[in-house]
Amino acid sequence: MALRCYTPRVLVEVAVAAAVRGRFTYRVPSALAPGVSLGQRVAVPFGKSRRATGYVVGFPASAPDGIELRDVVEVLDPFPPFTPELVELLRWAEEYYLVPPGELLRAALPPGLNARRGEAGPARRGVEYAAPAEAAAGAAADPKALARAPAQRAVLEYLLARGRIPVEELRAAFPKGRPAVAALARRGLVRLETETPVARGALLPASAAAPVLTPAQAAALVELDAAAGTFQPFLLHGVTGSGKTEVYLQAIARARGAGKGALVLVPEIALTPQLAGRFRARFGDDVALMHSGLSDAERHAEWLRLRRGDARICVGVRSAIFAPVQDLAIIVVDEEHDPSFKQEDGPPYHARDLAVVRAKREDAVLVLGSATPSLETLENARAGRYRKLELPARVDDRPLPEVELVDLGRLRRGGVAKLPGLLAPQLSEAIARTLEASQQVILFLNRRGYETLVVCEVCGAEAQCTECAVSLTHHARRGILLCHYCGRTERMDARCPACGGVRYGVGVGTEQVEAAVRELFPAARVARLDRDVVTSADDTAAVLARFARRELDVLVGTQMVTKGHDFPGVTLVGVVLADTALALPDFRAAERTFQLLTQVAGRAGRGAEGGRVVVQTFNPRTPAIALAARHDYAAFAAGELDRRRTVGYPPFTRMMAARVEGSEDGARRSAEALAHAARPALGGEVAMLGPAPAAIERIRGRHRWHLLFRADGPKALFRVHAALARVAVRPPGGAAIRFDMDPYSMM
Ligand code: ADP
Ligand code: ZN
Repeated sequence: MALRCYTPRVLVEVAVAAAVRGRFTYRVPSALAPGVSLGQRVAVPFGKSRRATGYVVGFPASAPDGIELRDVVEVLDPFPPFTPELVELLRWAEEYYLVPPGELLRAALPPGLNARRGEAGPARRGVEYAAPAEAAAGAAADPKALARAPAQRAVLEYLLARGRIPVEELRAAFPKGRPAVAALARRGLVRLETETPVARGALLPASAAAPVLTPAQAAALVELDAAAGTFQPFLLHGVTGSGKTEVYLQAIARARGAGKGALVLVPEIALTPQLAGRFRARFGDDVALMHSGLSDAERHAEWLRLRRGDARICVGVRSAIFAPVQDLAIIVVDEEHDPSFKQEDGPPYHARDLAVVRAKREDAVLVLGSATPSLETLENARAGRYRKLELPARVDDRPLPEVELVDLGRLRRGGVAKLPGLLAPQLSEAIARTLEASQQVILFLNRRGYETLVVCEVCGAEAQCTECAVSLTHHARRGILLCHYCGRTERMDARCPACGGVRYGVGVGTEQVEAAVRELFPAARVARLDRDVVTSADDTAAVLARFARRELDVLVGTQMVTKGHDFPGVTLVGVVLADTALALPDFRAAERTFQLLTQVAGRAGRGAEGGRVVVQTFNPRTPAIALAARHDYAAFAAGELDRRRTVGYPPFTRMMAARVEGSEDGARRSAEALAHAARPALGGEVAMLGPAPAAIERIRGRHRWHLLFRADGPKALFRVHAALARVAVRPPGGAAIRFDMDPYSMM
């Protein structure tokens, strides 16, 4: 193919955020050329006279012949929303995670910004502006003026095209243009002016004093300090309450002392006011928060503060891995094992894994902190790729709580048929004693609703969703049957719609636990925390605040009660049913169970009184449960790693899922077409599992199939992916196909 060659920056490669996604080459009109930099948003013609938004992702030197190139229409921001480092990170992520070009770029911006324009400006406090003076147009029009000063002419033309702009932007466009700008100002062709800033509300003082570190914390900080300025990943393994957060805070203080920025990723649910408050208390307004509890406008404002350099520390959830933190020196991933770092809906990526990539590209120190490190991270530490730092004891040497296992199977075999709220006598007695001592209780159950299954006594029919292949959950207070996958509701009828027989419910959910506690302990102040009772981050914060103020005695809830909270009044944690995560169709089910139990047990005994944990289970001898009860992470991890090695699962292999959704016929045919196309590409290195219907065969009326590919490394998987491209573009029967690299959910 013949190539036409162009001088640099005459052509741009643009990732277009449109229905047909891809990277396309455009020509840059000379008037716009100085303003077009990497990461800039531009308007481009797309398809038939359509105007689409895109992001500049590269500057190709040549374009394929035979294609008529079109011009960039407009540059949309005075300053690119993405730094060159972020453009590179996003590009890497799109390639690794097999995401169509432009999709992650779009997902990485705060919601408001995609729709707005012209707001990524670098308006720093005390902003300096440059503007063309009256004489500028005349000078530019005269070919003899500035004939011997091409740099000045270029700057002047740029300014005439764009009007008054921040000097910082001019510097970005002309990195060596400072003398030219000064000369133009002396000639009276350019005006330079400084604008007084508008005060940004009352600044939060950065006050809270840092405690003196324990010897283990101090040793960890010394190592982090020694690595400053280089890419060095660390695993900070410390039991809950061992002072990991304090280590992050002091390491970040060092980075800030050196004028550098920091990024802290935390799990979705952990970003409660408590954790955010600790960062804000230490660093004040230097912290920008990024989480789903913020409004679009707030998120946009926080994002802008980072982009402008007004805030240099970002504390945020998964998507904050793309936050425009300036001059990044350290990335912290707290609770690095948490599954919420893996995005399941929308473009799939793993924020913890991207943190490794970002830290490497920006020469930053990386701290992966956890009480129960993921087996991937542990294996990286064992192989010497990460350095391991340990905080083996709780601060002040408070002991870890004692964990007692209650064997529900044995109770049942012993004739105890029905436990209200599934509370075994041991657990209700423990609750009674705790309440008598005026202390607090957390009860954890990872299932919402009153009963998880409603069955007819006569014909045995289960209440099922008509759109999804799952049973409906009974929510008693609302009097409905609810599908937890599509949100469909039905009135709860005590009679079977098929035969008129009486229906009964099985499977305890949080609503039933709450009801049982209220009935058993009428004097206790009880609240529930799950997605049925709280719908916003503010609601969640309000419930947690009441609990922290000890206006509540018992808190019943789903995973929302397990994370990061520090309630000194809690001396009893009850796990109503430890087995819920064990049954998931996921090779990480055991790991997940161990992590959840350790996490929730860590909520007990954070005060002076010590703590106790009661775990109810039908599987008391399963390693994930038995070893969590003994706080024995090392034994659990060793056993589980052995098992993974034997069966050939990550971290010893890599996986890629192809997920198919469509009509019954379309989904099956597409899955078969994928398998057919994949077979010749498997070679000896890739194992293919499936095609098979997914664990949940139907959601929202769409049938679901999947294939899993497993290999020693990603290269062979990319090769298989390439072989599937043709099927993926036009799947039989109109199905949709998504690829998922390093998949989590096998549902
Ligand atoms: P983790 O993040 O490992 O769960 P934290 O950093 O939250 O642990 O510490 C647990 C508790 O101990 C917190 O209340 C924290 O303020 C306190 N703490 C941490 N480090 C110290 C220290 N060096 N001296 C005194 N208190 C500390
Ligand atoms: Zn449904």
